Amino acid sequence: MYMNDYQEKTSETAIYPKDKALEYLALGLVSEAGEVAGKVKKFLRGDYEVLPREDLEKEMGDVLWYLAQLHEVMGLAMGDSAYFNLKKLNARKQAGTLQGNGDDR
Ligand SMILES: [Mg+2]
Repeated sequence: MYMNDYQEKTSETAIYPKDKALEYLALGLVSEAGEVAGKVKKFLRGDYEVLPREDLEKEMGDVLWYLAQLHEVMGLAMGDSAYFNLKKLNARKQAGTLQGNGDDR
């Protein structure tokens, strides 16, 4: 599924207070990212014998949903973000600045 199609589809299940959309979605995004980190943490701690890939896949899907809805309410397209992100990283790779700090390397 293409990213922009996915983004559009997420609106079918977008039930949250629209007057607080940015706050709700930003909090949801970091909350779900925390769930991803929590599963990895528990794996490192030895709670799971193997990395819980299916659980992580579900949580990463939740991350994606919040990210898609953030794009939607901001009038942005996920496909554009993906394109510009790869463009930025490839430019850094060409410049030999993939490692380091700062958004505008
Ligand atoms: Mg979740």
